[in-house]
Amino acid sequence: MIEAVDHQGLPAPLLLTHALFQAPLHPDYHPLRIQRAGPFIKILESLDWLSPNERRVIMPIPREVQERFHTPDYLDALELAARGEADLALVKKRYQLGTRDNPILPTMAERARLLAGGSSMAAELSLTHRVVFSPAGGAHHGMPDRANGFCYTNDPVFAIKTYFDHGLSRIAYIDLDAHHGDGVEAAFTDDDRVLTISIHERGRWPGTGEHDTANAINRPVPKGFKDEELFRILDDDVLPALQRFKPEALVILSGADAMAGDPLMGLSLSNRGLVRTIKTLLPMAPRAIILGGGGYNPWTTIRYWTLLWAALTGREVPPLPSPDITAILASLDCARIRPDAVDPAWLTSWD
Ligand SMILES: [Zn+2]
Repeated sequence: MIEAVDHQGLPAPLLLTHALFQAPLHPDYHPLRIQRAGPFIKILESLDWLSPNERRVIMPIPREVQERFHTPDYLDALELAARGEADLALVKKRYQLGTRDNPILPTMAERARLLAGGSSMAAELSLTHRVVFSPAGGAHHGMPDRANGFCYTNDPVFAIKTYFDHGLSRIAYIDLDAHHGDGVEAAFTDDDRVLTISIHERGRWPGTGEHDTANAINRPVPKGFKDEELFRILDDDVLPALQRFKPEALVILSGADAMAGDPLMGLSLSNRGLVRTIKTLLPMAPRAIILGGGGYNPWTTIRYWTLLWAALTGREVPPLPSPDITAILASLDCARIRPDAVDPAWLTSWD
């Protein structure tokens, strides 16, 4: 059983949502053409685990705020391409828009403003609510001047900048996604107000994150990496580094693609192991936000988020998913996982 995180005397943790993130937007071949946030919210509603005072709707950030990280010419290209008005060969070559990883989507410019808005709101709301979960957020590969690895823009960067705006000057970014958090590390590489920590599968795209730098801790890990090995890295490296750095806030990218069963990646963490990791990290700072990041198996991703929300809000997880929840999980599909490869436990058990 998962024990509740203690929030005695503090306002309830918040969940950030937006209708645009509740249905898949990508073409059929794309790994992100799966349902994640929509069925997750349905499961929370079925459990009666999402009261109106625990939920906020994401507001977009304006263009001038986007320009605090992204270049104006790239934002222009993103908006023009989304409207179907761009030179396709040019935006592909110069901005990586219209590639197989980053297809041109009519919603991509709006989505970029919402993702940054969500992460910025999460940081601001964490000042009073202590913990805020934004499952749609976590586009950690986004670069200032181009799309990169399914990420059109970078939203964790805006969470960190929002903390700066509120006078905080020691932010720890902890990336548990199976891919290296290259965009966030690069954004703050010369800024000693930010410590970035990334644990990711070795030898995988984008191929960076092999070594530590002055403000970055990188732990590439092998295929098959398990909970106990993650706990050892936490005890030996991550927690001592956080104790030295004394962060005023944590930006955690929880990354469901590091779990067993992900169709793109080869790590073998469990949902309980990830929840335990986040519960271990939260006391290391007075406030934290948690962003969803990757996760290409809808069943493992959604069940993990459900267990995480239970832990954050101190709710007791029933021994088994109810028939309603099993029906929600059974309605999902994933082009990357053949129907006969869907583990029955993904529908009928939490583990
Ligand atoms: Zn990933």
